[in-house]
Amino acid sequence: MPSLQIINYPHPTLRHPSKPLKKVDRTLRTWIEEMFELMYQAKGIGLAANQVDLPFQLFVINPEGDRDSGQEMVFINPVLKTPKGSSQAEEGCLSLPGVYGQVARSEQIHVTGFDLQGNPIDLVAKGLLARVIQHEFDHLQGTLFIDRMEASDRRLLSDRLYEFELELQTRQESGTIPDNQTIKKRIETLENQYC
Ligand SMILES: [Zn+2]
Repeated sequence: MPSLQIINYPHPTLRHPSKPLKKVDRTLRTWIEEMFELMYQAKGIGLAANQVDLPFQLFVINPEGDRDSGQEMVFINPVLKTPKGSSQAEEGCLSLPGVYGQVARSEQIHVTGFDLQGNPIDLVAKGLLARVIQHEFDHLQGTLFIDRMEASDRRLLSDRLYEFELELQTRQESGTIPDNQTIKKRIETLENQYC
């Protein structure tokens, strides 16, 4: 089985609304280990499954971004509720390397879901943890942090975003990334297996 890779904007899987997982198996556990590995390599603190081309409601987080010091968390089929407060801070995304911008998020969020062992998660998160959870939860809906930036800020990034668009086009033409039809079929196959 080929290893996972982080896909970049505007890969279509990043815009595909993820489906809830109905089962966890050995393959999925291996993928989750790989997701942590890719996240640490890329110096990230969170990674959603559709960022590695897996269309599942699943994300991983380590707010320290360090295998040796932080707490690794796996969220399966997460639900966010009772947002409180608001805060503005700079965000980046492993699917948009080098792109940063100010994003308003709720200061506090209540998240429920399941961990990898099937235990229920029931957590009130604040500050950075709340921000990461909201960013990753957005991915599962097909939403990127650039969608939440002020239009004036996003306009400043338009040249860089265009470069990402050209890069995907080039890689699809050269075959290093499958065409959209093949990507769609693969998503359907994975959903039939796991959702
Ligand atoms: Zn992201």
